[in-house]
Amino acid sequence: MQSLTGTAASSGIARGPWILVAPEPPPAGGRIDPGQAEGEIARLAAAAEAAAGDLERLAERVSSSGHPDEGAIFDAQAAMARDPALATLSAERIRERGEDAIAATLGAAGELADQLRALGDELLAARAADLIDVAARVARHLAGRPEADVPRMDEAAIVVAHDLAPSLAATLPRQRLLGLALEAGSKTAHAAILARAYGIPAVVGVAGLLVALADAAAGAHLEGRAPVLAIDGDSGEVFIDPDVAVAERLASRAAAADAAASRGLAEAALPAVTRDGVEVVLLANIGTPDEAARSVALGARGVGLFRTEFLFLERATPPSEDEQLDAYRRVVAAFAPHPVTIRLLDVGGDKPIPYLPIEPEANPFLGVRALRLAAVRPEVFVTQLRAAYRAAAHGQVKVMAPMIADATDAATFLELAERARAGLEADGIAHGEVALGVMLEIPSAILVADSYFGRIAFGSLGTNDLLQYTLAVDRGNPQLERYQDSLHPALLGLVARSVEAAERAGIELSVCGEMAGDATAALALVGLGITRLSMSAGSLPEVRRTIRGSDFAEMRMAAGEALREPSAVAVRARFEALRAGALA
Ligand code: PEP
Ligand code: MG
Repeated sequence: MQSLTGTAASSGIARGPWILVAPEPPPAGGRIDPGQAEGEIARLAAAAEAAAGDLERLAERVSSSGHPDEGAIFDAQAAMARDPALATLSAERIRERGEDAIAATLGAAGELADQLRALGDELLAARAADLIDVAARVARHLAGRPEADVPRMDEAAIVVAHDLAPSLAATLPRQRLLGLALEAGSKTAHAAILARAYGIPAVVGVAGLLVALADAAAGAHLEGRAPVLAIDGDSGEVFIDPDVAVAERLASRAAAADAAASRGLAEAALPAVTRDGVEVVLLANIGTPDEAARSVALGARGVGLFRTEFLFLERATPPSEDEQLDAYRRVVAAFAPHPVTIRLLDVGGDKPIPYLPIEPEANPFLGVRALRLAAVRPEVFVTQLRAAYRAAAHGQVKVMAPMIADATDAATFLELAERARAGLEADGIAHGEVALGVMLEIPSAILVADSYFGRIAFGSLGTNDLLQYTLAVDRGNPQLERYQDSLHPALLGLVARSVEAAERAGIELSVCGEMAGDATAALALVGLGITRLSMSAGSLPEVRRTIRGSDFAEMRMAAGEALREPSAVAVRARFEALRAGALA
């Protein structure tokens, strides 16, 4: 047996034979004479258009099989095939370097992908893989063999690959796909997103996977057998030829996970009420409308955070008002009669998008991010707000602005919202009431809360960024692990201050950072007076069970003492003890 570790990308356990999917390399490029340049550029334009057409058909196929969000991935790829930046750079390489259309498109895509990867953002690095995928498709058209080589899978197997282009992942036979193990890739790579949407266990970023499997296959061949692979999509573990003990452990984990999933669903209708009668409203964090169904099934009483970035990334132009309305309406319909909180676009700085150019910045997390973009591109937010107001004609909608630093930012947000509402009014377009609130994720916004809480309807603590900005610790830097615990007394102090300010202003307060879905930390939040917690769907059952087994009076006392603790470690120990009692 050999074990390797990667990143857990899609929950569940898979065990069985495996098949290596090694897509053929794209056709090789060549050189041209200068006189051929313009003809080659025209040939490239035609191939790009043909590739875009393929991708639109693939989008249609995936969407009509009940996965509209995944279908949108290929619509986005079609937009990449038509992206003027790719065409311009390719044409430059043809004219200036004498490359043929194949070499130019692959080279240009490589250059653009490197730029995306260099930004250090996981989401954008995943988009780099999409760009390479698109260029390979264009190159295949240029070489006269447009079809990608889809692997044959005659029996059920775990698919193993270095990386898996989303277009290939979408064409794998789903009924025979036991799981996915990738040497490259991240949690936000599209192959991982597809795996989650399809409910297929996946582990990505498993260094050394292909060499280890090749060795195991050679050894097994000598013994006249086929090696077996097992992956754990919750822990990120990968086992080659698991021994009996591991196989038993995985089997019992799989059985326990099945039982926990059934129990989570069975308990979904129970209120998250403490033993001494304090009710906590559990809400869902979602990133796409497709996540709504599972969140509702697990008992979310609304959406506390709808991250809208996915609607805006990977495209050449921003989504139209109607497209946004469609996405928001789907979520509103899924959660009715409960409220859906749409967060305005949180990009810029570290997440640039082609149609929102921003000057390069030395400290993107401290730069032109989120609502700060409104100074240069107010229409992006007004369009988003118009779509939200229109969605509000169909159910309860709230909108919150990210990265608010003070009363001036809050006023900017309220003005944008009023522009959107008044515009709809003037255009005679149906719309509804929208509750307007802010994310509390910059310490200053909490420290001066009294100066603007009277003008907004709610606040939502974004503890991920709040921790980063309070402790001056980059949220993505694994070397700073010791600072990454949101149970730090400094953060708790800011939560307590927010609760007091919200009470003074009589407005609603919730938490939508990861902290809310951490069952131990959730007890501290409730103890500090937070009664609305928003989290990813998978965390709902455990948080609900923990709250139902706990006493508010104990949580409140522990929270008061936690504010005086010297470290997050001490605070965590205190609440872990409470949680152990709750689950006993
Ligand atoms: C947060 O910062 O806590 C938050 C919920 O927003 P995001 O993680 O999207 O920045
Ligand atoms: Mg944030």
